[in-house]
Amino acid sequence: MTDDFIKVKCPDCGNEQIVFRKAATKVTCHVCGSVLVVPKGGIGEIKGEIVEVVG
Ligand SMILES: [Zn+2]
Repeated sequence: MTDDFIKVKCPDCGNEQIVFRKAATKVTCHVCGSVLVVPKGGIGEIKGEIVEVVG
């Protein structure tokens, strides 16, 4: 388990989505387009609430 994949709850619409924490580009919510992960020096800054670490 590396905790690279996490489930994040979108702060705007409440959608829960699995994201790659070390994303090279920003990750947006599939439902409303809100930014969930901002790439920052190798590890992403998580904008939403982390619901679960997937692996
Ligand atoms: Zn959303």
